[in-house]
Amino acid sequence: MPELPEVERVRTTLAPRLMGRSITKAVLIRRDVWTPAPASRARPGPAAIAAQLLEGAVVDRIKRRGKQLAIIAEDGRVLCIHLGMTGRLVYQPLSAGRAAEDHHIHSRWTIADDRGPAGELTFRDPRRFGGLWSLNSPEQLAERWMRLGPDGLGATGPALWAALHESRRAVKAGLLDQAVIAGVGNIYADEALFRAGIDPRRRCDRIAEDEWVRLAEKIRAVFRSAIAAGGSTLRDYVDGDGSPGLGRDTHQVYGRGGQPCLSCGQTLRITTLAQRTTVFCARCQPRTPRRSHNSSDFSTRPPDARSGRRSGLSDRAGPAPVSTVMKESLSSSQQQRVSAC
Ligand SMILES: [Zn+2]
Repeated sequence: MPELPEVERVRTTLAPRLMGRSITKAVLIRRDVWTPAPASRARPGPAAIAAQLLEGAVVDRIKRRGKQLAIIAEDGRVLCIHLGMTGRLVYQPLSAGRAAEDHHIHSRWTIADDRGPAGELTFRDPRRFGGLWSLNSPEQLAERWMRLGPDGLGATGPALWAALHESRRAVKAGLLDQAVIAGVGNIYADEALFRAGIDPRRRCDRIAEDEWVRLAEKIRAVFRSAIAAGGSTLRDYVDGDGSPGLGRDTHQVYGRGGQPCLSCGQTLRITTLAQRTTVFCARCQPRTPRRSHNSSDFSTRPPDARSGRRSGLSDRAGPAPVSTVMKESLSSSQQQRVSAC
């Protein structure tokens, strides 16, 4: 399933192909992948469907929040796209011909520049966990995206703490919850937890403040490096130009269960959490938390099992009270989340 870096790659490859260009024709082939705009007629006809799919619009910009994309037209119409498990949103110039007939292509758009038709955009999704949502305005998009947590590129320790510190869920399950943080899926949850030295099975309410800070830092870091690498190479995933991702080699644990840990050499373990295969190193990600009095130490220190001695903080004691600094940055991160919409 494409996660934040892969969807960001789709956004950045499509933006120069679509921005400032007109959508001269929009065709919905499979109705059940599409959700009409709020308050639209119960059974819109073909012309109304085409209009809601941005026919006649000029593309103003393409935005992303977590794993969702939105094409925003100059006149305010919006089409929100989720790639789900197997979705592809691909632009093909007319010089390369029309995308071949394929019963997994559910929608097609003809894109024109000043000189006339220039290319075709297609949405293809064999398993149909993805979809298209029409919206009447950027305000409706903001409303939809308010249901998501902050975008993963802006993950902060205080925001993760605020959302999860009372949860008894496993920390990995918490990270996969898009209402907590948007864009983290199975790959980058495992990668970030490994880099942060946190056992994915640990309960959220037993994770200390400095660990949330370190985890947020690693989430941002794995996303940034995956975006720079062009996204992971995943089955079914291609970018907006139809090219596969390039970043698989950067994974330290994902897909490496049973192989030696790249940090300590111990065999990486495989378990299932939140119905997802989970890979971790029992030595680098100890079940009993390390303690640090200076969270800045964590950014440079590699995972090290020998520092995993039991802390003075009892497992039953629950999280320490949030510090004044945490409270201050919490309010600013919440404001950021609102303004990001
Ligand atoms: Zn290890």
